[in-house]
Amino acid sequence: MSVPKNLYIYPWESYTENNCNSFVIDGSVRILIDPGHAHLLHHLEARMVRDGFSLEDIHVALATHPHPDHCEGLVKLKELGALIAMHEEALAFLSRFRAQWEQMTGQRMPDFPVDFFIKEGRLELGSEVLQVLETPGHAPGSVCFYWQEPGVLFSGDVVFVQSVGRVDLPGGHAGLLARSLEKIMSLDSQVLCPGHGPVLEGRGAVKENFYLIRQYFFAHQASPSSPQ
Ligand SMILES: [Zn+2]
Repeated sequence: MSVPKNLYIYPWESYTENNCNSFVIDGSVRILIDPGHAHLLHHLEARMVRDGFSLEDIHVALATHPHPDHCEGLVKLKELGALIAMHEEALAFLSRFRAQWEQMTGQRMPDFPVDFFIKEGRLELGSEVLQVLETPGHAPGSVCFYWQEPGVLFSGDVVFVQSVGRVDLPGGHAGLLARSLEKIMSLDSQVLCPGHGPVLEGRGAVKENFYLIRQYFFAHQASPSSPQ
């Protein structure tokens, strides 16, 4: 199984400006994962229009974690009529993070009027079910979404192809990230959709990527479940 037909992948491709990858699940409830920066939303919108829908068509917008390059656009999505959500700890982190945010973006941090909190467990959105995994380490309140039926893992900034999320930003923690990695590598993922960089297809490739990351970045934290 490769990328399902109702998954739209919008990788961020500019090298001059940082933003995240965005993903749309076109189910009976249309879900947007990580809208990215507010001022860059028009890029996403232009590409969505080519696929036959617009930001107004999004019913629910979710953020994997509380960094501006992933969650800032939620506010605009809310204005356009979507329900918006993040983890409760992510929202709490944002209020503590206000000064750094304003320093990083040069803009006032918006309020995030979330409609519900994302938490560990099953998140049923119309015809689609996402398994939410709490995966701190890169940022407080970070989550991954595992879309079980097609085996697609949206990993935010926890893991990328051949790399892991930074732990040197406020609230980062290498030990927690290692534990989060163990948690998501036990899933039977066939497609890895990270928050930045390329998407990885194929169960073997996804598994290999996890083992490579564990070995390269977390070798000092020996795990009893190592394959060899
Ligand atoms: Zn991040």
